Amino acid sequence: MVTETDKVVAQIPQEHETEEKPRVGIFYCGGAMSSAGELTAIASFEVLKRLGPKEVGMGCVSALAAGIPKHFKTMQGIEKVLVIDGCPNSCAHKVVEKTGAKMDAYINLGKDLGIKKIGPFKPLDFSQEDFEKAVQAIIDKVQEKGEES
Ligand code: SF4
Repeated sequence: MVTETDKVVAQIPQEHETEEKPRVGIFYCGGAMSSAGELTAIASFEVLKRLGPKEVGMGCVSALAAGIPKHFKTMQGIEKVLVIDGCPNSCAHKVVEKTGAKMDAYINLGKDLGIKKIGPFKPLDFSQEDFEKAVQAIIDKVQEKGEES
């Protein structure tokens, strides 16, 4: 017998399939213990505000790490996936590599932009200058054409 719950669950992947997708999907590490980790999230959402939801959307790296199939599948269907880490531990990059998920571009705020990691428990201690630097670097990667790194 098919229950109401079965019907709802069966609809979820379909909704993920039919929902309009952004051109670029972002996986950020979101490391909330430090300024650089939290900046990956805050700067990504600022880019979403500036470029809009048709251009940019957020993926869920926790769901990817947990092996949730629909999240994996949804992000695989996006034109370009940008992965962002806050520091050289490169957690989001490692999760993406382990799961075999798509990654077309990558930014490491520490390694690539020299943004200092302040913590633990200081997630909002980044400077305005670092915030603008991170936002601009993400916009540049989103809009970059041709071969990705
Ligand atoms: S990459 Fe660095 S900032 Fe991001 S979650 Fe890992 S340790 Fe934290």
